Amino acid sequence: MNTCTTCPNGVGNWLQNQNPCPDINCACDDNIFSSLVETVPTHYYQCKDIGFKDCDNDDLIKLQVNGNNENIFFLKDVWDPIAQTTNTPEVEWCRINNEIALSETELIEANAMYSIQTANDYFTGAFNINSYDNNGGQLIVIVHAKGVNANGASSSIASNPAPAPMSLGDGAIGECNPMVSLDIVAHEYTHGVLNNYINLNQNLVTTTELRLSTVAIQEALADIFSIIIRHDENGGQNTWNNQSIWTIGAEACFNHPNLPRYVNAPQNSVSTQASYYQDPVHNWSNNQMDYYNRAGVISYWFYLLSTGQQGVKGDVIQQALNVNGSENIIIEALNLMENDIRTQYTFEDFRDFTIQAAINLHGVCTNQHRSIVEAWVAVGLLDCANINISFEENDPTPADPCDKELTAIVNNGSGCYNFEWFRIDNGVEIPLNLNGVTIPVLCNNTYRVKVVDTF
Ligand SMILES: [Zn+2]
Repeated sequence: MNTCTTCPNGVGNWLQNQNPCPDINCACDDNIFSSLVETVPTHYYQCKDIGFKDCDNDDLIKLQVNGNNENIFFLKDVWDPIAQTTNTPEVEWCRINNEIALSETELIEANAMYSIQTANDYFTGAFNINSYDNNGGQLIVIVHAKGVNANGASSSIASNPAPAPMSLGDGAIGECNPMVSLDIVAHEYTHGVLNNYINLNQNLVTTTELRLSTVAIQEALADIFSIIIRHDENGGQNTWNNQSIWTIGAEACFNHPNLPRYVNAPQNSVSTQASYYQDPVHNWSNNQMDYYNRAGVISYWFYLLSTGQQGVKGDVIQQALNVNGSENIIIEALNLMENDIRTQYTFEDFRDFTIQAAINLHGVCTNQHRSIVEAWVAVGLLDCANINISFEENDPTPADPCDKELTAIVNNGSGCYNFEWFRIDNGVEIPLNLNGVTIPVLCNNTYRVKVVDTF
């Protein structure tokens, strides 16, 4: 007799392989289902609560949820040896004696649902959105993925213009266990939110360079949210499932060619990642196709900001923001990007969104603002040498066309500046004792501004 695993005591420990397995051919004759949340055994985490649709009057369960900002639909890849092709039927389970008892294969499916619902819950809460696209979009999940996805996980989640699934493989023997762990699934789910809600476009070819920097930013953010979601799910601890939250991919994989990645030590990632912008000594790849490598700079910035560790060149962050403080910066930066007309960005653009986020949340020249800047300096993405200043002239009083305003526009700096304005009279600087970014000016005069980047 086959044995299956149950959760007789709710969330927590399972009772492994001691119950009879249910009949696999149950039905739901009247087709009346209720949405339930119930404790089930999962491949990695023993007993967890998940949602599903439960046949009211028969034993059938469908691994689907619809409601409360989530819309999730599970399919499975099944190889048909006669047709020599795969089919993708819905994932269904059967109860036995009113109990849920799952086989090894079903434990993987249950774990995938747990990981996806955890990621979905996080994003709907953090951004106040309805599903990954804020439009109730259906998330199709293919578990036990075969072919190219068998030893991987991929996400092209979309409902519009055509449905596109998240694919989760069962892993390759000797390399990975099933790719349904929270570290991997949270990473993939993040791609869905970035592709759809934030509209961070990985495909549009404006320039190859801009497309690939956008792809690298996506990979960094996907790892960053994998960290944030596990931190959140474990009540603010820096571990999840007995592993460091700063490690990506080690829950499932033990001998994968590219995993794990170590966000706290990018140089040790199985496929080495950069820890300093545009510096090959610190593993920056000169090949822009190496977007996982380059993503290391941004995810390492998040690590330094959260923990206050020194950068690889000894740069210091005086006040760590902890994971929660850094998380708030990332959320605000993404809200700014969501409202931005552009869909592709350079690393410098992304840096500037996080600086603006710090100013929005904490104020200009605050300790938090300083920490964001120091962490960017520590990964080589902020350098006083690149500051440039331009001017904008406005005419607030059209009745008097000689009465104008002059604004200094500073780019590529920290955002915390001191301004000192002068009028130039016969080559001599006359101090105006004005320190704002904008000053009143009169026509037919020459002005100069001295800008000090205080950070
Ligand atoms: Zn990715």
